[in-house]
Amino acid sequence: MNPVFADLPVTVFETMSRLAREHGAINLGQGFPDNPGPEDVREVAAKALRDGYNQYPPMMGLASLRTAIATHYSRHQGLELDPDTEVMVTSGATEALAGAIFALIESGDEVVLFEPMYDAYLPLIRRAGGVPRFVTLKPPHFRLEEEALAAAFSERTRLVILNNPLNPSATVFGEADLLLLASYCRQFDAVALCDEVWEHVVFDGTRHVPLMVLPGMRDRTIKVGSAGKIFSLTGWKVGFVMAAPGLMRVLARAHQFLTFTTPPNLQEAAAYGLAKDETYFTGMRAGLARSRNRLANGLSALGFTVLPSAATYFLSIDIGDADDVAFCERLVRENGVAAIPVSAFYETGRVRNLVRFCFAKTDATLDAALDRLSRRASAA
Ligand code: PMP
Ligand code: GLN
Repeated sequence: MNPVFADLPVTVFETMSRLAREHGAINLGQGFPDNPGPEDVREVAAKALRDGYNQYPPMMGLASLRTAIATHYSRHQGLELDPDTEVMVTSGATEALAGAIFALIESGDEVVLFEPMYDAYLPLIRRAGGVPRFVTLKPPHFRLEEEALAAAFSERTRLVILNNPLNPSATVFGEADLLLLASYCRQFDAVALCDEVWEHVVFDGTRHVPLMVLPGMRDRTIKVGSAGKIFSLTGWKVGFVMAAPGLMRVLARAHQFLTFTTPPNLQEAAAYGLAKDETYFTGMRAGLARSRNRLANGLSALGFTVLPSAATYFLSIDIGDADDVAFCERLVRENGVAAIPVSAFYETGRVRNLVRFCFAKTDATLDAALDRLSRRASAA
C-alpha cells in the first residue's frame, strides 16, 4: 500500500463529526450550515433531476454553468474569463485541488504551503511526489512576512498554495500580502494554486481580492471556487477552476481521469444561483455575521478569549496553555459540544492553543451549545 495514505489518520472533520454523533453532541466542528440552503437553488436542482438530462454532461462542465461562472467573476471580481478555454467544473474544490496538484507537480518539485493549511493539501502533494516547504503564519493576524517567503521559495519551487480567505483562522489576506506573494511567484516562476472557496463569505465590509488580478499573475494562477460555500450547500461538491488556457489544458487532463464529470442537475442549479442578484450575497453575509456575533458574544460572556473572525463559517478561541486536542475531546464527551482542534491544520505542530467553532447554525443551535458550555464550563 502507498504509505502516504496507509499511514494517514481519518480527517479531523470526520473524526469530530463521528464523536459528535456518538456523544449526542451539538456539532460546531465540521463546517456546514444547519439550514437547508436557498430553496430556489434546490428547486432548480430538483426540477433538473426530474425533467432534465441526467446522462454524462460535457467533461469541462455544462456550457450554461461555465458561462455563468465567467459572468459571475466578471461581475463580482472584475475577472475576464473565457468560458470555453479558461473555466472547468469539478466535483467540489477538493477535486480541483487534487487535479491541479497531480497535473502540475513532478517528483522532487517544491510546493510552498502556509500553515494553518486545509488538511487535504499535504497528502495530495506527498502522493504527487512534491516536497512541501512550510511557512508558519502566526496568530492572531496570520500575515505573510517577507523573511518567511524568502526562506521558503527556491529555484525548485513549482507551486504555492494559498487559501484566501483562510480556514481556520478566518482571516483575509489583503493587497499587501498578495503583492508580496505575487512578487515571489514571478521571481521564482511559480504557479499559484488559490483556494478561494470562502471568497463570498467575508464580513464587516472586508474585500476579498483574487490573487489572479495582481500584476503578472493572470497566466500563473489557478483559481478554485466552490458552489458548496457560495450557496451553503456543502454536500453538493460542485467546484470551479479558472486558469489561463495553457494551464487549463493540463488541468483538464487530470480531471478527465479523476471524476470526468459532475452531476448535471447540480450544475444547472449552480448556474442559476451564480446569477443571483447582490441581495442574495449581502443577505447571506449579514445572516452569517449575525451568527458569528451571537457565538462570539456568548463565548466571551463565558470567559473564553475569542479571536476575530473576518470570513468563513468559523471563529476560534485561544485556550492558553491547554492542549487543543485534549480540550476538544473533553468538550465533546463532557459538554456535548464538538469543535475542531486547530493543530490539525499545522504539520510542524507549532500552534496547539486554538479551538475552532462553526457558527453557521441557527440561533437555537448556537444558544443550546452555549448553554452546554456554560453549564459545565469548568470541565473545559
Ligand atoms: N478548501 C477549503 C479551505 C475548505 O474549507 C473546503 C471545505 N470546507 C474545501 C477546500 C473543500 O471544498 P469542497 O467541499 O467544494 O470540495
Ligand atoms: N472544510 C470543512 C471545514 O473546514 C470540512 C470539509 C470536510 O469535512 N472535509 O470544516
